[in-house]
Amino acid sequence: MRESLVTWETKKLAMPDTFTLNKNSIGVGDRFAHQAASQLRACTMAAEQGVTVVPVWNKSNREHNIIGSEPDSVRAEADRAVRELGWPKQYYVDADHINFDTVDRFVAASDFYTIDVADWIGKPADDAAIQTFVKSHPELSGELQIPGIAKPSTIDTTFVEKTAAKYLAAVKEAGRIYRKIQSLKGKGKFIPEVSMDETDSPQTPAELLIILAAIAGEGIPIQTIAPKFTGRFNKGVDYQGDLAKFSEEFADDVATIAFAVKKYDLPANLKLSVHSGSDKFSIYQPMRHALQRFAAGVHLKTAGTTWLEELIGLAEAGGEGLDMAKEIYVQAYEQRDALCAPYAAVISIDAAKLPLPSTVRGWNSEQYQNALRHVQANAEFNSNVRQLLHVGFKVAAKQGAKYLHLLDHFSHTIGKNVTENLYERHIKPVFIGDA
Ligand SMILES: [Zn+2]
Repeated sequence: MRESLVTWETKKLAMPDTFTLNKNSIGVGDRFAHQAASQLRACTMAAEQGVTVVPVWNKSNREHNIIGSEPDSVRAEADRAVRELGWPKQYYVDADHINFDTVDRFVAASDFYTIDVADWIGKPADDAAIQTFVKSHPELSGELQIPGIAKPSTIDTTFVEKTAAKYLAAVKEAGRIYRKIQSLKGKGKFIPEVSMDETDSPQTPAELLIILAAIAGEGIPIQTIAPKFTGRFNKGVDYQGDLAKFSEEFADDVATIAFAVKKYDLPANLKLSVHSGSDKFSIYQPMRHALQRFAAGVHLKTAGTTWLEELIGLAEAGGEGLDMAKEIYVQAYEQRDALCAPYAAVISIDAAKLPLPSTVRGWNSEQYQNALRHVQANAEFNSNVRQLLHVGFKVAAKQGAKYLHLLDHFSHTIGKNVTENLYERHIKPVFIGDA
């Protein structure tokens, strides 16, 4: 066992039912490791309403590389927040979107692993393995009546074979990564998620069922699964797509998971993980309705939304804070092509609608806040500015100590925005609902 692992394990606070993820959980991102307490405060507000929403701090390998941080810093800030607020429930640190090669640096700090196998979808699987899968799952072919889904899905052997051919290599790879983590962390000592969201085509509920059967066969005790849903999940802005179609698909996925849990003996708390890319407000209500209907839980990842609240808080604070917020926009504008490139598939910025640096330099505190704060009804809200800054955290990272100092200096104003955003705009609509 690695020495650092021992250190973290012993530091960890005692908590109920440690590695069975709670029904409601929220993925929060804390790019600069300064907002964990303000994020956790949003969970305590939910607890005051009688709803337990467990925080999972997530930061991907890509984000660590861009910022130049290590997973241990996320763990330290999460532990500190939990101690400071006396949070008595579960909390986790997610190694977000890891693969076989990138998982190592997360072994000490993380106890939740998002095993990303999207790149393996469509890779050729072993022919014999496909045939074995099809033969061992005769129940998948024919008319399948899943409770809660109105129309029975008719799946024939050809479809099972085609789907297995498309996903089996990905599931096998997930198994390889899972076993690597298990050998390092110990069996049952972490929460495994399998993610397939960062790919081009969404998975249908029928495909999800076949994928879950394969995951069960691979022996992965997954607790959350992140499929790709229909529609666009652009970074930082609302959902774009056919809302009715999403609602039906989401409800069918929830029903499919409940069915697969029984059929394939998967963990009883298995649930969907929605990688929102921040604020998908228009799908929150249909999500909540489906979750209520099936008495199901969900893991909602909101990672990037907090970093933008840092900018909003700085702008609200005025003075040096506002100056920094403007400077970050100006530099992000100048470097927009490089900043956007790694996220090309998940942003849609109309460059003509980005205000010029000279314009933003002239903005007052309200103008900056209004452009960025995610209140779509505000006439000054600019989704292009929001998307650019969402992917522009590298610019703040380059400011180094100067940026971090301002986060400390204006922590009160920033923290207020972080908490309010998470609670009012995310936790409430998904997990609590309007009175
Ligand atoms: Zn994701």
